[in-house]
Amino acid sequence: MSDIAQTISERLKKVQTRIRDAVQTADRSLNDVQLLAVSKTKPAEDIWQAYQAGQRDFGENYLQEALEKQAQLVQRYPDNEICWHFIGPIQSNKTRAIAQHFSWVHSVDRVKIAQRLSEQRPDDLPPLNICLQLNLDGEESKSGFRPEALSEHATQISALPNLAVRGLMAIPKPRDDFPGQLASLQRLQQLRSELQTAGVHLDTLSMGMSNDLEAAVAAGSTMLRVGSDIFGPREPKPQSPSDQH
Ligand SMILES: *Cc1c(COP(=O)(O)O)cnc(C)c1O
Repeated sequence: MSDIAQTISERLKKVQTRIRDAVQTADRSLNDVQLLAVSKTKPAEDIWQAYQAGQRDFGENYLQEALEKQAQLVQRYPDNEICWHFIGPIQSNKTRAIAQHFSWVHSVDRVKIAQRLSEQRPDDLPPLNICLQLNLDGEESKSGFRPEALSEHATQISALPNLAVRGLMAIPKPRDDFPGQLASLQRLQQLRSELQTAGVHLDTLSMGMSNDLEAAVAAGSTMLRVGSDIFGPREPKPQSPSDQH
């Protein structure tokens, strides 16, 4: 059966079944694992299809694209209850719009970015929920805090007034073997326990994508970020100038 022929609602159901199975295998509770639908490069109509199938949390990577889709959806469905998550790389000059238009930011990778988000969070909105992104594999090209620096920076960021530091996020190096995926994802859980000991309490582990969601559930993920297995394969995105970094 061709993947293309399936509807978003059918794919979403399959992902939900995979999550249910993984949760059962790991002897965890389904209530403790949330699904974030990653809709980058996909049109607002696709988001609406998933919404109608019951999905409420959506993740976007590119600010300009996200703002356009948010505006389209508010115009067409003014009472929609979408919860927007920003999960892409963050440039300093984008923090104001991110602080205004999202409920969650998963990709906080520098103290300076956290400070700006806190300063720029509008007073009439609740604190911005954030996750600190970790560079687990020490990849030069990847953003994120180094594990050694995490505790110090997490303490600093926790003191900022308009942020709620909720958890840790990582995008591990892609691997196809379950044990390899598991080992790398378990490091994030380990880092969370270490912070817990240091007095920083976090309820969220944002990890697991289409290819490693089973391993992520086994490693304690509380928020899976799944894109292509819900919305179908992505075309490479032609970057608009304002989205470049
Ligand atoms: C694109 C993306 C995802 C989703 O990846 P899939 O492999 O399509 O499920 C998750 N997290 C981040 C940060 C992403 O950029």
